[in-house]
Amino acid sequence: MNADVNADVVVLGGGAAGLAGAVALARSLRDVVVVDAGEPRNAPAGHAHNVLGREGIDPLDLLAAGREEARGYGARILADRAVTARRDGSGFVLELLSGRVVRARRVLLATGLVDELPDVPGLRQFWGGSVLHCPFCHGYEVRGQRIGVLGSRPTALHQALMFRRLSPDVTLFVQDLDVPDETARQFRALGVTVREGTVRRVGGTPGDLVVDLDGEDVGVQALVVTPYYRARADLFRQLGGQLATNERGEFVPTGPGGATDVPGVWAAGNVADLSAMVAGSAGAGVLAGAAIHGDLIAEDARALVAAHPW
Ligand SMILES: Cc1cc2nc3c(=O)[nH]c(=O)nc-3n(C[C@H](O)[C@H](O)[C@H](O)COP(=O)(O)OP(=O)(O)OC[C@H]3O[C@@H](n4cnc5c(N)ncnc54)[C@H](O)[C@@H]3O)c2cc1C
Repeated sequence: MNADVNADVVVLGGGAAGLAGAVALARSLRDVVVVDAGEPRNAPAGHAHNVLGREGIDPLDLLAAGREEARGYGARILADRAVTARRDGSGFVLELLSGRVVRARRVLLATGLVDELPDVPGLRQFWGGSVLHCPFCHGYEVRGQRIGVLGSRPTALHQALMFRRLSPDVTLFVQDLDVPDETARQFRALGVTVREGTVRRVGGTPGDLVVDLDGEDVGVQALVVTPYYRARADLFRQLGGQLATNERGEFVPTGPGGATDVPGVWAAGNVADLSAMVAGSAGAGVLAGAAIHGDLIAEDARALVAAHPW
């Protein structure tokens, strides 16, 4: 099959991690192609917080600026989706949804993750606004409000304590979840209300939600959920990679600089670190870009020496 795009490095995903990696690589005069399907995880949120120097920026504006910076150093950005990945000699071949083919010597996987929300009707329409997961991302914005925490996973117990720091009015809706005695004592001491039962649906309007708890309407202004975080890692699996799991979800295991167990493949951002926020993802992307560049430098130097009688 003929390749129509060749590069030193293909970056899969043009979120904070991928674009930061692309900038680092392009500034090292690497030929970089970013393939991006254009669905960053935080797109439902209007603002990105804890982004130093760009506090509160629209997430899509941040990425638009990142794309311009990457292009400014010569990176090519394809609005496309990689659908297959395979090894080809010492490099890789990626087929894109458009039918294009990319060949590259190295892969930086920065495809992010999917937030699998609890299966509660009505919940998704408020996701990224009144339904939230991260006290650091948007906790400040709901400080002092009536906050509900959907206790469908063990990490919700910690969430309840985190959000209690931000508001005196926190209700934990416990569903199929054991609350250890010590945690129950902490909730009593801190004034966290615990309600048992099944949350059947979530309705209302943004900032004025109605939680249907076994037929009883409970009003909250914000509802905290604990998604299952699933790395977007089909391409990694196609390349022979294996995922790891922890209590929060499923991710690509990495070593220093984002190296994976698959030679030639690095990973950065949420695909490898389920907790990484925007700044952390960008930082991981830079480190992975630097590591890939170093790896190519070493390979090229070895090849040069092997090819010439120095
Ligand atoms: C609702 C919400 C609000 C948030 N708010 C904040 C906040 O205020 N501050 C903060 O620091 N963090 C926030 N986060 C976390 C933030 O979204 C992540 O830290 C960040 O998006 C991770 O960047 P990333 O580059 O790893 O992945 P992403 O930003 O998700 O980017 C991955 C990119 O890869 C693309 N992609 C996936 N598969 C393919 C493929 N096969 N081919 C091509 N492209 C592909 C996707 O379309 C996407 O564009 C929030 C998260 C959520 C869910």
